Order: sequence, then C-alpha cells, then structure tokens
Amino acid sequence: MGINVLLDKCTGCTLCIKACPFQAIEMKEVEGFPRKKAVIDLDKCTLCNACVASCKFTAIEIKAEKETSTDLFHYKGVWIFAEQREGKVQSVAYELLGEGKKLAADLKTDVSAVLCGGENIEEEVANLFAYGADKVYLLHHDELKDYKSLPYTRAVSELITKHKPEVFLLGATTMGRDLAARLAIRVGAGLTADCTGLAIDPEKKILQQTRPAFGGNIMATIIAPNNRPQMSTVRPKVFRKAEKQAGRKGELIKFNPILNPEDLVVKLIEILKDESVKVNLQEAEIIVSGGRGIGDAKNFTMINELAKVLGGAVGASRATVDAGWISAHHQVGQTGKTVAPKLYIACGISGKIQHLVGMQSSDIIVAINKDADAPIFKVATYGIVGDVHEFVPLLTRKLKEIRG
Ligand SMILES: Cc1cc2nc3c(=O)[nH]c(=O)nc-3n(C[C@H](O)[C@H](O)[C@H](O)COP(=O)(O)OP(=O)(O)OC[C@H]3O[C@@H](n4cnc5c(N)ncnc54)[C@H](O)[C@@H]3O)c2cc1C
Repeated sequence: MGINVLLDKCTGCTLCIKACPFQAIEMKEVEGFPRKKAVIDLDKCTLCNACVASCKFTAIEIKAEKETSTDLFHYKGVWIFAEQREGKVQSVAYELLGEGKKLAADLKTDVSAVLCGGENIEEEVANLFAYGADKVYLLHHDELKDYKSLPYTRAVSELITKHKPEVFLLGATTMGRDLAARLAIRVGAGLTADCTGLAIDPEKKILQQTRPAFGGNIMATIIAPNNRPQMSTVRPKVFRKAEKQAGRKGELIKFNPILNPEDLVVKLIEILKDESVKVNLQEAEIIVSGGRGIGDAKNFTMINELAKVLGGAVGASRATVDAGWISAHHQVGQTGKTVAPKLYIACGISGKIQHLVGMQSSDIIVAINKDADAPIFKVATYGIVGDVHEFVPLLTRKLKEIRG
C-alpha cells in the first residue's frame, strides 16, 4: 500500500492536517509550486484513510501496490500466532497449529508458530513443537510480556517482512483481532476475519477463507491472490487441536525485535479480570443450551438442573439472551461463543445458521424440539421430537437415578 499527495490538486487548505490523528502531515514548500503543499511523514502515517476522506480536492490517494507473481513466490510457509496470556500459550494457538499443519501439507511446506513474550516464555516452546510446529519464532522482550498493540505490531511485522510467510493465522480473540488488523495494514496483506473454514485451492495454491456473510445467511469464500501473507483470524474452538506428541522436536529461531520509542507510549499499569464472567463455555465438555422453545426465563432452571447433573455448563440461543432470560455470557453462535464440547444438548432451539456456526463442531449433538422439521435436526447426532417441558425433567430425573 502507498499514499500519495497529488501536488497539482493540493490547494494547501490544511483540512488533511486537522483530520490526521497521527500528526503525520505538514504543509511544506515544494519546488515548482508557489503555495505550500501537504507532505506526509510515512513513518507516522498508518494509512488510516482519514486524510483521504477529508480532502475536498481528491488530492490524496491510497493505492494498493500489486506485487508481481515473482514477489509472491518469495513467500513460503504457514505461520500461526501463538497467543499467550500470563506466560501460557492459549488453546486457540494449538487449534490453529492443527489446521495450519493441514494447510502446510497441501502447500508442501512447514508450519511455524510465532511466540512473543517476556521472561520464561521459552518454557512454552516445547508445547508448540509437541502440537505440531515445525519451527518456533521466539520474540523475547520485556515489553512483549503482556499484549500491547504497538510493540507487538512492530515486532511481528518486522518478523513477517524478514521471513515472508505465505499464510498467517491468528485467533479471533480480543488480542488476535487487534493485532491482525494492525499487521495487515503494516505489511500490506489481505485479512479475512472470523473464518469458519480454510482450505488451499488445489490448482492456484492460494488460501480459500470461508466465513459467514450478510448476517450469516450465506457463507462467503474469500481469497487474497495479490498480497502476502494471506491472513485470517479464526475463533477459538472452530478447529481441533492436533494430537500432542510429547518430546517432538522442531527448530527454534530467536528474533530480537527492535522497538522504537513511539512503540512504547502505552504503559500497562494493571490487568483487572472481569469477575462477573463465571461461565467458561469454550472450555466446557458438556453444554446444555436453552432456546426460545423453553418458553420463559424461569424455565432456565430445568436447563441448569440438567447441566448440573451432567457436570456441564449452560448455553443459550440469542433469542433468549435478547429476551433478557439469561446473560450474554451464555450465548452460543455467530455473535456469541463458538463451542465444541463432547456433548451439546439443544433444548427448544430451532437451529438457525447463526446458532449452528457456533456449535456444529461439537462431537455429539442432541436436539430436543417439538417441530420435526426444525433445522437443528440436520446437524443433530440424536434428535428427540418432543416437548422440552416433558423430556428435559424426565432426562434429568433418569440421570439422577443412574448416578445415585
Ligand atoms: C447477525 C446475526 C447474528 C446472530 N447471532 C446469533 C448467535 O450468536 N446465536 C444465536 O443463537 N442466534 C443468533 N442470531 C439469531 C438467529 O438468527 C435466531 O433468531 C436465533 O438463533 C433463534 O433462537 P431460538 O432457536 O432460541 O428461537 P426460535 O428460532 O424461535 O426457535 C425456537 C424453537 O423452539 C421450538 N419449540 C417451541 N416450543 C417448544 C417446546 N415446548 N418443546 C420443544 N421445542 C419447542 C420451536 O419448534 C423452534 O424450533 C443472529 C442473527 C443475526 C441476524
């Protein structure tokens, strides 16, 4: 990507200076022109587009610089971002490694993990090898101990520029979403957010990135043929971890990032955990979810009881969250959590696509619905056509009897 001021059109009106949030523009004398013109400091410019939008004279343009096929040929390998919190690699990284390995096999290349952190972070490297990383790029710096947008963006973008991966996957987490967008701009890559499926085009060998579009009513497959790396974010639990092979070895490549003073303007003072979030749906092995078919907020009691007897967590459809029957922490689906438990019991949930994208990778799905044509039955392993008010308490009672 590049940004240009078209000097013939620029009137020196200074609107762009006011619009630029990064103080990256100044009016300067330019040889051959009687008036001062806008000059952009490319070190400060983030290509945010604010100046382009503000210019009444269409005198500023941002252009994607199309790389030639020879340039693209230099990009090799599949990378995943190994997100860590408090020094522990998060499970989304292992899920990305599992999928990254398949993509790498189709591209006949290797899969690498990018791990940033402070003191003791090297202890996590062995796990990344065990879950399938052929290489680990270790970026060690005190300022990378906890996630901060600017130092992480600087460090990882420099690594990308140096080693040129053809595919880079990140978790669609708070951290991954922030970092991916910044990196994509910094390195001029195409980025597809919240993918639910990834594949390699067998002929063109490019990444096909599938994600819900138009409110989840269609699945769109997106490609980025002219830019590298091809970047995607993927929500936790969309893919499965590869089998862990303890003792598996790989290549460790240490990279010392050079951070500039402007990368260090944000100081992390304290991390406060949201203690109100008591449900960890994404880690639960059993989830019992209630939908509008349960009829009322108070009927979540029967969902809670079934979940309790099974030792599981309580999920919900958006309809019940929107109705105020249960908090949004429980919502499963496109705008809620993506889950993949061993057992998912859907009680009175119709199975609209926005709900299905959040739970269809569960190992066993049991659906209870009084409508035999409800779409949830298309993904269900076992379907019970019946009334939740009869079936759920009966099941809970029987399970209690069996468990004594
Ligand atoms: C952009 C966007 C994002 C969205 N994100 C999400 C999301 O993240 N998660 C999500 O869930 N939805 C999401 N939705 C909403 C989604 O489209 C559906 O509206 C919602 O999932 C419906 O919830 P439901 O299945 O509980 O309700 P309904 O669709 O109303 O289904 C209720 C079901 O209960 C059955 N039923 C009724 N009474 C009984 C009974 N006594 N016993 C047994 N069965 C009974 C009915 O047959 C019916 O199938 C989103 C929508 C949009 C546009």
